Amino acid sequence: MTTRMLSTVLAVLLAVLSASRLAPAQAAAQPKLSVHWEELTAADFREGIHRAQGTCLLPIGILEKHGPHLPLGTDLLDVRYAALHAAEQEYAVVFPEYYFGQIAEARHEPGTIAYSREMQLALLQETTDEMARNGCKKVIIVNGHGGNEHLLPFFAQSQLDKPHDYVVYVFDRRTPESGGPPKKTTIDMHAGESETSKMMISRPDTVHIDRATNESGADQHRQNLPEDVYTGIWWYARFPGHYSGDGSAATKELGEFQMDWWIDAVAKAIRAVKADDVSLKLQNEFYEKSKHPLETQP
Ligand SMILES: [Zn+2]
Repeated sequence: MTTRMLSTVLAVLLAVLSASRLAPAQAAAQPKLSVHWEELTAADFREGIHRAQGTCLLPIGILEKHGPHLPLGTDLLDVRYAALHAAEQEYAVVFPEYYFGQIAEARHEPGTIAYSREMQLALLQETTDEMARNGCKKVIIVNGHGGNEHLLPFFAQSQLDKPHDYVVYVFDRRTPESGGPPKKTTIDMHAGESETSKMMISRPDTVHIDRATNESGADQHRQNLPEDVYTGIWWYARFPGHYSGDGSAATKELGEFQMDWWIDAVAKAIRAVKADDVSLKLQNEFYEKSKHPLETQP
């Protein structure tokens, strides 16, 4: 071994040694921060927004009947479980409990809180505006409630109506298309096998599995219209008791599989959004061009 080789080996060894000594010190310099907006001090919130690269989650649930056996807040409890765990994996600041979505179709059931459409849109806009004013320049709305599936894309689309200095992203998937323990039921839209299984993971203490067969979650097919003709009463026509499927088929194993998938999918969405440096640029370009459309070239 030449002297030069020896000094190179020594330098590498020294670097490795100092890195291993530095590691705990660096870890100490990055203290663990809560992902809960409401648990951070003002100073820690500033650090949290910095660490999250301006990426914040707004999980949206609802208060509505979930069959005879699940709590009114099922969608809120599930979506927060998924979002909070995802943010632990890929740091993001998570907005507090938000359940002000679209649920007009459950107004005949006890415990439903259904705000007017004007209020839903105004509150959501002011909420994301306020989040952005506090540094959340990338707001990911994580949807936990099927009844929001039209509201949220409409809300996101309508962000183009006037300039905003932030981007609204919507993540709206709760179950994987395939995989995991085989499912026993075919109709499984609301308080059924999947949703009940997930609640066995997020809040097992609120699941009354013994009551799952007290009501029927069968499709009542009370409307006779082609599939591509939409009416607001479709859900009430098919599932008037806010139960679609059979919650008694639920298992912890299915819940674990689906919840893990959901958490992982949200974490992936957070990573993708953090890496997205295009959307805001394009939005700004669009806002600028939309001030003088006649000058826009093809
Ligand atoms: Zn639900």
